[in-house]
Amino acid sequence: MQRILNYIDGELVEAANGGWLDNVEPATGKVYSRLPDSDETDIEKAVAAAKQAFPGWSGTPAVERARIMDDIADRIEADLESFARAESIDTGKPIGLARKVEIPRAVSNLRFFAGAIQHTASEAHVTDDQALNYTLRRPRGVAGLISPWNLPLYLLTWKVAPAIATGNTAVAKPSELTPMTAHLLAQTCRDAGLPPGVLNIVHGLGARAGAPLTTHPDVPTISFTGGTATGGTIAAATATSFKKLALEMGGKNPTVVFADADMDVAVPTAVQASFSNQGQICLCGSRIFVQRDAYDAFVDRFVSATGDLVQGDPLEETTNQGAVVSKAHFDKVMGYIDLAKEEGGTILAGGSTPSGLPDRCREGFFIEPTVVTGLPHDCRVNREEIFGPVTSIMPFDAEDEVIEWANETDYGLSASVWTQDVSRAHRVAERIASGTVWVNCWLLRDLRVPFGGMKQSGVGREGGDEALRFFTEPKNVCLRLGSS
Ligand code: NDP
Repeated sequence: MQRILNYIDGELVEAANGGWLDNVEPATGKVYSRLPDSDETDIEKAVAAAKQAFPGWSGTPAVERARIMDDIADRIEADLESFARAESIDTGKPIGLARKVEIPRAVSNLRFFAGAIQHTASEAHVTDDQALNYTLRRPRGVAGLISPWNLPLYLLTWKVAPAIATGNTAVAKPSELTPMTAHLLAQTCRDAGLPPGVLNIVHGLGARAGAPLTTHPDVPTISFTGGTATGGTIAAATATSFKKLALEMGGKNPTVVFADADMDVAVPTAVQASFSNQGQICLCGSRIFVQRDAYDAFVDRFVSATGDLVQGDPLEETTNQGAVVSKAHFDKVMGYIDLAKEEGGTILAGGSTPSGLPDRCREGFFIEPTVVTGLPHDCRVNREEIFGPVTSIMPFDAEDEVIEWANETDYGLSASVWTQDVSRAHRVAERIASGTVWVNCWLLRDLRVPFGGMKQSGVGREGGDEALRFFTEPKNVCLRLGSS
């Protein structure tokens, strides 16, 4: 059986305690590899390696750091098929999605920050004729990077790239549910000649490996992406040590469709926003509000387009709906489908496990893309993050009403608004409480924009300059002008 290893000080090693965890393939429900069950001893070694590597790496010219990052990106791109296959097996997502979206986006993360670090400017402020203030931005040291299972390589590189581009070194703890692409990344970093200790990857459980990383006194920076409850635990655990913290957390994102929207684009995009990656993207739009005049026609077209999705073995090219990540997550999502019925919803599509799966997938964690109507806007299904292929569609009458409903959850990550009225688009985008609002589109990405959430979806912003700033400490130097 394949064994995944920790990457510490440039070496691929087992956990110090010799323990292993099973890694299950979601499409089959079977163990297909093992990963180290690491604990604080491994974290200690990884942090020590990162601390030792910091002076050399932060003193390496930016152009050389960028060259190595570009080399890593080139190698991932050259080996894209292996990465896409590993990601599909590890997560249950369709291989086509991994190949077209996630692995290329991971490559872009590395290339973008390799470029960005060579083009950053520092601020200077002249205080009349008295003084010149300039801002030095310096890497802080060892960054702790904690990432989830839904987009494992993409979200890991989203943190690794700005951290090491700015001259920090890093210890990463990927989700134990999806460790394989992080393992491939470790091998790629070695092949590309990344100096030992610059990036360390420690696999294992959140409580045993993640928690000691977040509280380690030699780790001043923590960047976390995952659930809001875990984010809260990390915020509490680090509060009195005043670490620099970025938290990217859950979402319950609204899709608001006005009657004047171009439905030929709005319907297929709303389907994609609901069910891409089996609804397991923090930015998925799982609450769809449609203006009443257009509601019936929208629901018909949406249900019909959902029926066209092809669910099956994630390794098949034709599949566009795979398995959810684990048995525990399967149970959670199915529980919300039961709750939707209890709360008075009507299941118009899906609601169960699919039939007709190939033999290989009989024990896999598959849930049909599920469409629910008839739920009140403020019920639990419409307020809590399900993070699976379950979408609720509701009618609305007025702009004020839909903005109030859209803002009715504790989350505020993203939203999409569909209308051909530009003034309304601006108005609604301004009033929806979320870190990103897409107008007449979904998931369009520009790496320069600030990314993150409002309310319980996040603290701080990543992306572009925000990430470069987050991973560095600004210092003002005030130089008195004139004669001494
Ligand atoms: P979790 O919060 O369960 O886990 C995220 C990571 O934190 C994992 O590596 C986990 O390890 C680790 N972890 C768990 N407990 C601790 C702890 N006490 N200290 C340190 N680390 C810990 O999230 P999921 O993996 O279930 O991911 C899904 C969630 O992520 C959803 O809520 C989704 O909305 C959110 N998400 C947010 C995004 C955003 O950009 N805002 C993007 C993508 C996802 P382990 O796996 O071993 O538990």
